[in-house]
Amino acid sequence: MLQRPRKALIIGAGIAGSATAILLKRAGFDAELFEAWPYSTGIGGGLQIAPNGMRVLAEIGIADDMIAAGSISESFDFRSQSGRKIGSINRNMVERFGRPAVNMRRSELLEALVNKAWCENVELRFEKRLARIEDRADRPIVAHFTDGSSAEGDFLIGADGVHSIVRQHVLPDGPRPFDTGLIGFGGFVPRALIEGTGIGQRVEATFGKSGFFGYGFCSPNPQDGAMWWSTQPSHGLDAVAYRAMDQEAIRRHLLDFHAGWHEPIPSILHAAENIVVTDTLDVATLPVWSRGRTLLIGDAAHATSPHAGQGASLALEDAMKLGCLIREGRELGQNFQAFEEERRPRAERIVAIARRNGNSKREFSATGAWIRDRMLKMLIPVTSRGMDFMYAYDAGRGSRPRPETSGQRDRQAA
Ligand SMILES: Cc1cc2nc3c(=O)[nH]c(=O)nc-3n(C[C@H](O)[C@H](O)[C@H](O)COP(=O)(O)OP(=O)(O)OC[C@H]3O[C@@H](n4cnc5c(N)ncnc54)[C@H](O)[C@@H]3O)c2cc1C
Repeated sequence: MLQRPRKALIIGAGIAGSATAILLKRAGFDAELFEAWPYSTGIGGGLQIAPNGMRVLAEIGIADDMIAAGSISESFDFRSQSGRKIGSINRNMVERFGRPAVNMRRSELLEALVNKAWCENVELRFEKRLARIEDRADRPIVAHFTDGSSAEGDFLIGADGVHSIVRQHVLPDGPRPFDTGLIGFGGFVPRALIEGTGIGQRVEATFGKSGFFGYGFCSPNPQDGAMWWSTQPSHGLDAVAYRAMDQEAIRRHLLDFHAGWHEPIPSILHAAENIVVTDTLDVATLPVWSRGRTLLIGDAAHATSPHAGQGASLALEDAMKLGCLIREGRELGQNFQAFEEERRPRAERIVAIARRNGNSKREFSATGAWIRDRMLKMLIPVTSRGMDFMYAYDAGRGSRPRPETSGQRDRQAA
């Protein structure tokens, strides 16, 4: 008799959930993907997918589309508030890691993943907000939604992000997200605003006395093909409070905060529209990532503040690793354990790096900022080499650093 494929209930059609649904489907499982919000397009700011994440997008089959829709980043250059260059990281990514780092709109990536999931016959359910999970022996696992409906499966993947409800099922008394005291603003402006600055394909990022500002190209579209973001101390005002203000008030706040910073920062802010505001959240290390037939992945398992530019790539790696493990046909609990053993040390190391990076964006005295900029100038070439482990990782295999020539090392450190 033919056995029916085992069925995964995946909660959250974000980056981790959509990629996991595609890869589980390819591994021979049924995958049903549930998203709390209606299907929507065009939401969110810009992000960068690093070579380790691009490797997963290539496996899924959308890397070339994302390169065409986005913009390859050839380096990440740091400046002081006055515009003096401090250092440069992430050069020669293709040469060193086999894939580029690519800037893109978050919405572009999500739309591509969801479309791919549709094409691969993943069952997609929008406006299905998980309320609770029921996992009783000898019965299918059940996801109950806030609209009163429910779904049954053989196991459940919690890919519902930093505010995960699935995390509360796995760890009823577990840690909750906390505000790191930094707030993020971001959006898109016409390419012409930065085209004349000699930026080329680089991302430019400026450390202020207080806060941080970054910009670079993210799509070929002349109207909104440049992305920007500002990170700054929140001084007790959270994203909800800023979102309640009108756009003009937010822009005025940003212009005041970044007054005196080098061009094109003021010009970008004058042109900014549809400014997105985000809290910068973190979650303490979870003691376990699974319980019974439920596993956490992505931000639900290892939420990271955005200062290492790796959260989305880690989410993609999780999907890839889970897809590979589950193909091997072991018992579910063994797969969950193997997943956590492989993924936890790497994810926690990167979360710690992001926390440390965030500290450079807090408030400094004028002298403190001067000292920090000089320290960064010395440290950037060293820390840059220490980041290679992030980009070299191949979730299909594990850590596999590419051999590097001394010439490449020298160019990277320059
Ligand atoms: C300002 C900012 C900039 C960033 N920049 C970068 C960057 O440049 N590079 C990078 O790699 N990372 C970046 N990150 C981090 C990255 O966005 C996250 O790590 C990544 O989105 C995590 O993916 P995820 O799928 O785990 O969670 P999410 O993308 O948050 O997706 C979770 C999904 O679950 C849904 N959901 C939530 N609750 C429920 C529920 N109860 N029922 C059903 N569905 C639910 C949500 O609506 C959402 O669609 C940034 C983050 C921020 C905040």
